[in-house]
Amino acid sequence: MLNRDVAIVGAGPAGLFAAYLISEFSNLKTIVIEQGADVPERECSSSSRAYCSKCKPCHVLCGIGGAGTLSSGLLNLRPDIGGNLYELLENPREAANLVCIIDHIFLEFGAPRKLLIGDPEELEELQRKAASNGVRFIPIPQRLMGTDKSRAVVMKFKQHLEKKGVEFLLKTRVEHVEKEKLILSNGEEVHAKYILVAPGRYNASWLSKEAERLGIPTKYTPIDIGVRVEVPAIIMDPIIKIARDPKFHIYTTTYDDFVRTFCVNHRGFVVMEVYEDFVCVNGRSYLERKTQNTNFAFLVQINLTEPLENTLAYGISVAKQTTVLGGFKPIVQRLGDLRKGRRSTWTRISHSNVIPTLKTVTPGDIAMAMPHRIVTDILEGLDKLDRVIPGVADDSTLLYAPEIKLSVCRLYTNRDLETNVENIFVAGDGAGVSRGLVAAAATGLIAARGILRKEGIEIAFTEEFFKDAISSESCKIISQF
Ligand SMILES: Cc1cc2nc3c(=O)[nH]c(=O)nc-3n(C[C@H](O)[C@H](O)[C@H](O)COP(=O)(O)OP(=O)(O)OC[C@H]3O[C@@H](n4cnc5c(N)ncnc54)[C@H](O)[C@@H]3O)c2cc1C
Repeated sequence: MLNRDVAIVGAGPAGLFAAYLISEFSNLKTIVIEQGADVPERECSSSSRAYCSKCKPCHVLCGIGGAGTLSSGLLNLRPDIGGNLYELLENPREAANLVCIIDHIFLEFGAPRKLLIGDPEELEELQRKAASNGVRFIPIPQRLMGTDKSRAVVMKFKQHLEKKGVEFLLKTRVEHVEKEKLILSNGEEVHAKYILVAPGRYNASWLSKEAERLGIPTKYTPIDIGVRVEVPAIIMDPIIKIARDPKFHIYTTTYDDFVRTFCVNHRGFVVMEVYEDFVCVNGRSYLERKTQNTNFAFLVQINLTEPLENTLAYGISVAKQTTVLGGFKPIVQRLGDLRKGRRSTWTRISHSNVIPTLKTVTPGDIAMAMPHRIVTDILEGLDKLDRVIPGVADDSTLLYAPEIKLSVCRLYTNRDLETNVENIFVAGDGAGVSRGLVAAAATGLIAARGILRKEGIEIAFTEEFFKDAISSESCKIISQF
């Protein structure tokens, strides 16, 4: 049995940033328990595969750095992107400061110094063009680490934490969370006054089961279901010059549904994610390896009310149906074929001027796999987007399905992210309080601040505590958005 002051479940950005704050401002003995491996062991046999069943053989979602380590590492530096920090922090100024603090910590561990933010006039022009076509464009300061750099940053981060006395217990899964106790898969126990659970999306359903067992109330969050769109990079070039990961929000004509672009990988790859009984697609880009294509997720937001409020169950059923139809591979279809109501074939795809970057796919018919409403939203949404980015809805555009951002149950907490079980805190994507690297990191810092507060250590996200971060040049820019 191990005895520590703080036990953190999960070494994703939420867990690592929490450990950072605690080790900077206290002598609390902290242990991070992570079911995956250390960064150097997190290798993939192929860029197009993303196995993570029990974290083997490839470690895309689990391990030190969490899902962020092998991601594109694009930091969206805005408090209302990837989550809503304004909801968690009383003072809006603090929300902006928190983003600056996270950015500063990433820089400290080697993130590239270049801040990606377009020319103000071009940004305004793009906003105007989008608005006049019924599309909302959201300008965001961003920093791109790229998959290659992200790994180095995470390794440095972990080394720093170890120097500060944070312990890591790797390849060890937490089976159960109890008040002041964690039960590990090997039967051992870790006792700690404070427990912070940050298991990410991969183990979100485990967390909601644990919450139910512990009597922590939860609610379902909306689910995002859609496709990954792949177009020639040249079509996206003019937009990417203005915004590295442009976010467009659209309401569709027929259903008035909310559709958005997400996770743009310029000159990147479409990748497959393999779950236990279904597959999904995602995207990735590298600083060094470039393709001729750009891909982005195009997602319809779905909220359900009675009798089925469980958006996760709904999303999984769509994912499974698509997976069955694709023969346990994602389906790829040309937009023109979807419009014409016919399946794609490899021959038809070869007539297209987009060469798919993901080869382990089945050419098929997305309309056979996904609900009519979602397909209609995708078609209408892309047509609107085409008026802002000409060519994006060309017949040769490739659509890969399913792209699903699995919803999670949001755990009810107070503003410090402490649950109704005293001293059990939650953070990150798995708890439904974030959906991106920066927001996940922010919730880790907020929960850690809550833990420190209980020890009588008051931390404010102000210049008094984080002078270098908040007075930096980057922060001046970030604070304008
Ligand atoms: C392919 C891909 C690309 C992405 N690209 C971007 C991007 O460019 N920009 C962006 O902002 N976001 C991106 N994201 C999302 C981003 O990675 C996540 O939002 C972020 O990592 C969430 O952080 P987290 O700490 O909440 O969880 P995670 O990063 O998922 O980490 C949770 C960790 O907890 C561990 N764990 C879970 N349960 C247990 C348990 N019971 N016992 C022990 N350990 C456990 C897991 O193994 C995992 O390592 C991407 C995600 C993916 C999958």
